[in-house]
Amino acid sequence: MTQPPVSLREAKMSQVYGRKCQIAGCSLHRKSGKKYCNKHEHGFHLKGDPMQVSIKISSLQRSTQEIQELLEANKSNPSLHDLRLALGERWVILGKAVDRYLKQQADGLAGVKGQRKGYQVLQSLLKNVPMDEVLLLWVSFQRFEDSTPGIFVNQRSYKHQLVKHVRRISHFVDPALINKRTGKKIVKYVVEMGVPEVNTVYDLLNQVFGVSGYQFSKAIAKRIDSKEELDKRVRSALVGIT
Ligand SMILES: [Zn+2]
Repeated sequence: MTQPPVSLREAKMSQVYGRKCQIAGCSLHRKSGKKYCNKHEHGFHLKGDPMQVSIKISSLQRSTQEIQELLEANKSNPSLHDLRLALGERWVILGKAVDRYLKQQADGLAGVKGQRKGYQVLQSLLKNVPMDEVLLLWVSFQRFEDSTPGIFVNQRSYKHQLVKHVRRISHFVDPALINKRTGKKIVKYVVEMGVPEVNTVYDLLNQVFGVSGYQFSKAIAKRIDSKEELDKRVRSALVGIT
């Protein structure tokens, strides 16, 4: 019996990592050429990191509500109006860039598979979802991270979880998830996504919305501070009334 050939990469990895999965407490064997066992490797494609918890839409609810209150309070603020106009222009530019890329792909230009899928998700998003809804998700996510420190194990899992929700609202149907015989959609509750797809969607949306999430979140923190300050004043004034 001959041993199966071991790749150079795997030979190096077994020198560095041994045979065990690199997650503390996991006693399973490492997958060949990977740092983790089958289960934890799967976690990368599902959640962005094996140690990341899945962020459900219900967890975001409070942050989304805070953003909606901020938008409502600034309804007649000309700055908000200007921001929306400027973001709207970037949104149109994004649409053109996505169409151009996908047209080049259709004309046979080589591309990275995951990257192409990212553009397809964005195409669905641009077609099916108003910009305001995407903006709300984008800034809610930033607010959620700021108000729940440690909820994301790293930047990569933040992006992954955000893009997962972008994909959900985009109603994108992955051609690979259509049953070729019946033509029906294969239901997957949590879709696996690779790094190129996540990065493509995140980076292009970042070009539109950029730091607006951070700025909105800061504005909310300021509002909360001044409300607490006011509550304190009311409380101490009440104590003084005899
Ligand atoms: Zn493991």
